Amino acid sequence: MTTNPLLTPSTLPYGLPDFPAISDEHFLPAFRAGMAEHRTELKAIATDPADATFENTFRAFERSGALLRWVQMVFSNLVAADGTDARQAIDEEVSPELAAHADSIYLDGALYQRLAGVDVTADPRLDAEDRRLAEETLKTFRLLGADLDPDSQRRLAVLNERLAVLTAQYGRRMVAENTNSAVWFATAGELAGLSEQDLASAAAAAHAAGHPGGFLLTLSMFTSQPWLAVLEDRDSRRRVHEAAWRRGSTKGEHYTLDLAAEQASLRAEKAGLLGYTSWAEYALVDRTAPDLAAVRELLDRVVPAATANARRERDTVESLAGHPIEPWDWPFYAARVEREQYHVDATALRSYFELDRVLQDGVFAAAGALYGLSFRERPDLNGYAPGVRIWEVLVEQGAEASGSAGLGLFVGDFFTRPTKSGGAWMNSFREASADLSERPVVSNNLNIPQPADGEPALLTVDQVNTLFHEFGHALHGLLSSARYASLSGTAVPRDFVEFPSQVNEMWMYWPQIVTRYARHVESGEVIDQELLEAIEASSLWGEGHRTTEYLGAALLDLAWHSLAPGSTVSDPLAFEAEHLMAAGLDPELVPPRYRSSYFKHIFAGGYAAGYYSYLWSEMLDADTVEWFRANGGMTRQNGERFRAELLSRGNTRDPMESYRAFRGQDADPEHLLRRRGLLG
Ligand SMILES: [Zn+2]
Repeated sequence: MTTNPLLTPSTLPYGLPDFPAISDEHFLPAFRAGMAEHRTELKAIATDPADATFENTFRAFERSGALLRWVQMVFSNLVAADGTDARQAIDEEVSPELAAHADSIYLDGALYQRLAGVDVTADPRLDAEDRRLAEETLKTFRLLGADLDPDSQRRLAVLNERLAVLTAQYGRRMVAENTNSAVWFATAGELAGLSEQDLASAAAAAHAAGHPGGFLLTLSMFTSQPWLAVLEDRDSRRRVHEAAWRRGSTKGEHYTLDLAAEQASLRAEKAGLLGYTSWAEYALVDRTAPDLAAVRELLDRVVPAATANARRERDTVESLAGHPIEPWDWPFYAARVEREQYHVDATALRSYFELDRVLQDGVFAAAGALYGLSFRERPDLNGYAPGVRIWEVLVEQGAEASGSAGLGLFVGDFFTRPTKSGGAWMNSFREASADLSERPVVSNNLNIPQPADGEPALLTVDQVNTLFHEFGHALHGLLSSARYASLSGTAVPRDFVEFPSQVNEMWMYWPQIVTRYARHVESGEVIDQELLEAIEASSLWGEGHRTTEYLGAALLDLAWHSLAPGSTVSDPLAFEAEHLMAAGLDPELVPPRYRSSYFKHIFAGGYAAGYYSYLWSEMLDADTVEWFRANGGMTRQNGERFRAELLSRGNTRDPMESYRAFRGQDADPEHLLRRRGLLG
């Protein structure tokens, strides 16, 4: 029996997992060893004969389960980025065991009593972060049912295990269905409008999928596929759109709607057990939004203005097209309006956005100018799959020291692969914790189509934006100065976590950055000022449509998670259509960004009753952008303030307190409405 590399601490820099040594058969034994070790540690805490102190309760609890946390972090990264069938099967097997393990902790009355018995306000040696750890830990226990009677606790444990199974199944079926739904075309003629590069990628994709020839267009997770903006053939567009729209809603092995409906019902029941009227009401307890009414108020304020804008946009496009516009026509004609009225050609623009240049001279350069970071690629360190790249992140030292010090690692996995989950995300292999002397190892995943051999990867404007966005999350993890891992970096409420990543998007068009990275891939010429101004002028075009797509998804999420305990949904598609129409959104006009059958955020991720968060945190984002602009923009001093008061704090204090400390006041929602073109 060879040793399991997951059971011994990594000897690699920053504790990077030794990927080549890890194979799939190591995971289940490591998970089970991690759970067993954790149980032993918790038992020792609960039965410690000594007087309960912060040290032997909250701090010991925080430090317990280190092995399990480590295995979980490695596995969650791999199953999302390279979720082979074997790993999906492990996920389905271990998810209910992990759910039961969590319940054995949070429903353990002796442990809860031991923690709740410590008076943290009475100990003068404890500081604000220690007290925050105690408060947050107890809140988690309460929200997970520590206060319930034994019968309710038993039912809760059953629900949690079933929910874990459903979530893992939904994720697996969705990835398989997305791969299966790629659209095959026999001839290049049907794909007129595609660039040479994309056509070559599509031919390679067809070959890789086992087709004897032809071209395969793979789908992104959204409803509206990027291909639709360029495909000239109307019927080809319709085929791509319909394949995307139907994903997961046909009964069969990849049907996801039964899993979605069951999850929604069980979450409602769980919320009821815990004393709430719906899952949404329960979830909001741990958010920065004060309550559900406040969230609905923001959405209700935006819906009429956004849909009115979307209708006006459609009128513009219909007069150009000379025929009624179907959802699969919208991106094509919207791009034509951009070209003809704003002189922005999205396809031609891609020649200015070569991945490596955008990354090094754009994303990394911005982090250098703001936070004093530099990046050194470490080809000596192995990633978990071909194409994964690793950088060491260095931070410049203060005036008294010279040079740079190592801060952590950044793992970049930018290209799509058939086993990768859709969309883009940030994750951690290791979270910063001063108490554990651990430094962060964070990853960013995107789904940029793999360019054909030897070709450069040219990005769309949206992909450039995503690169800056995800790196904003990475900075939140990298720049953490938290003592405790559970309060570190991105461990903030769901409706706050998007805020730093959204702010990082502002640097994409910042003059000193965009003129560095946006250079023509062949000539090396810097993008010209007129084109940049045209992009800026065109940025509000299509905003009504984009906002409405988003609102559709946000309102669908709230509809599913506002069910009262005891409710079931027998016809999920009818439920979906009915709730969209009732909210004033017409899916025939503007389909939601995600549909119930492929809504990973809420049915295979942590965003249940949380998709509103993007708009909610954009209030803070738009307000922060105003602050940077009014205070000299991209300076080291401004970056330092944002780092010190906000990024480094994580959840070590109330995030809204961090916001006010950074900004000096509360956010003004007008900035958000103006940015989205929603002010009267
Ligand atoms: Zn994000």
